[in-house]
Amino acid sequence: MTSTEHSIAAAEAHSAHNYHPLPVVVASADGAWMTDVEGRRYLDMLAGYSALNFGHRNRRLTDAAKAQLERVTLTSRAFHHDRFGDFCAQLAELCGKEMVLPMNTGAEAVETAVKTARKWGYRVKGVPDGRAKIVVAENNFHGRTTTIVSFSTDPEARADYGPYTPGFEIVPYGDLDALTAAVDENTVAVLLEPIQGEAGVLMPPPGYLAGVRELTRERGVLFIADEIQSGLGRTGRTFACEHEGVVPDMYVLGKALGGGVVPVSAVAASREVLGLYRPGEHGSTFGGNPLACAVALEVIAMLRTGEFQQRATELGDHLHSELGLLAGGGAVDAVRGRGLWAGVDINPAHGTGREISEKLMAHGVLVKDTHGSTIRLAPPLVISKEDLDWGLDQLRTVLGAG
Ligand SMILES: *Cc1c(COP(=O)(O)O)cnc(C)c1O
Repeated sequence: MTSTEHSIAAAEAHSAHNYHPLPVVVASADGAWMTDVEGRRYLDMLAGYSALNFGHRNRRLTDAAKAQLERVTLTSRAFHHDRFGDFCAQLAELCGKEMVLPMNTGAEAVETAVKTARKWGYRVKGVPDGRAKIVVAENNFHGRTTTIVSFSTDPEARADYGPYTPGFEIVPYGDLDALTAAVDENTVAVLLEPIQGEAGVLMPPPGYLAGVRELTRERGVLFIADEIQSGLGRTGRTFACEHEGVVPDMYVLGKALGGGVVPVSAVAASREVLGLYRPGEHGSTFGGNPLACAVALEVIAMLRTGEFQQRATELGDHLHSELGLLAGGGAVDAVRGRGLWAGVDINPAHGTGREISEKLMAHGVLVKDTHGSTIRLAPPLVISKEDLDWGLDQLRTVLGAG
C-alpha cells in the first residue's frame, strides 16, 4: 500500500463520509503550493474556500502565531487578555463599525448574527415576542448548524435534520421585488451573501445590493452581509459589498480572518446593535482567544496595507480575461466572479465538475467542483502571475482548449 492509499483507506474506514475529497493526501504546503505524501506538488486553486487568502504558512502569520504560543494561548472570556482589546478595536475599525463579537467558526458567527438581529428586533424595534422574521436568499450557504440548515434550499444540506427552526423566509437571490414583498413589520433582518460562493460564485445583478441597502434602511431592518467567503480581499476589496458602495449594518466574517492558522470568526456592527448584549446572554469558550487574536491582528494589519486587495484586483482582471477567452470556446458555458474568484460552468459534454477536478489534480492543480458542473477557482491572493498562468494552462489542457 502506498502512503496515499493507507491514509485514504484509514479515513474512509473511520471518518464519517460527510465529504468526498479528491484522492490527494497533503503532507505540507507553502504559499500557493501543496505537496502530497508522495512528494508530488500541486497548485492550490481553492485556498480552503478563501480561508487561505494569504497563502499557506504565510510567514507574518506563522511568526505571530509562534510568538503567541510562547506567551499565552487560552484564557476563556472569564478573564481579559492583552490581545483582546486591540483585536476588537482594530477589527471594528477595519469594518468601519463600533463593536465586534468574536466567535470561532463561520457558522457560529452567522448564529451570532441571527441571535443579535432577533435581540435587536425585540429590544429596539419592538417586534412582539417570538415573531421576529429574517429574510434570506435561495441557494444561500451560511453554515451547517440546525438553525442555519433550516433556511437552506439545498436538499443535501437540509434533509433529515428537522424539526427546523422557524422565523426565516426565503426569496430568490437578486430579486428586489420579492425581497420588498417579504419584508414586513416583524422583519428584523435581511441576511445575504454579497456573492453566493457555494452556489457557484453567483453574482447579484448590478444595483441589487444597493437596492437591499435602501430598502432595509427605509423599513428599519438590519442588513446583514455574510462576507465569510467574499470578504477580506478576495474580490479586490476588503468587503465585496464595497463594489456597490454598500455598507451593511452587520458584517459576518470568518475563514480568512484566521489566516489559515486557526478558526476565527466575528460579527461587526454598531453600538446600538452589539451594545445590547449583557453578560451571560451569548458566548464561546474559545471565541477571542489569545492565539486567535494574535493571528487575526496580523491579518488585519496585512489587509490595512491594501496590498492583497490590489493583487486580487490585478490578478483577478487577468484571470477573468483569460477565462473569458475560454468561455467562447465550447468547453465552458459561463464564467462568473470578481477578483481572484471565479465560478466556471463546464459544458457537460466535457465532463462533470468532479471529473474536471480529478483531471486537473492529475495535472497538478487542485480545485473543487460545486453543484455538478461548476468548478470554483479561488487561489490564494499571494499566488504569482506565473503560477496563475501555469494553472490556467493546465485548465486549458484538461478542457482540450490548449
Ligand atoms: C464557509 C462559509 C460559512 C460557514 O463557515 P464555517 O467556518 O465552515 O462554519 C458561512 N457562510 C459562508 C458564506 C461561507 O462561505
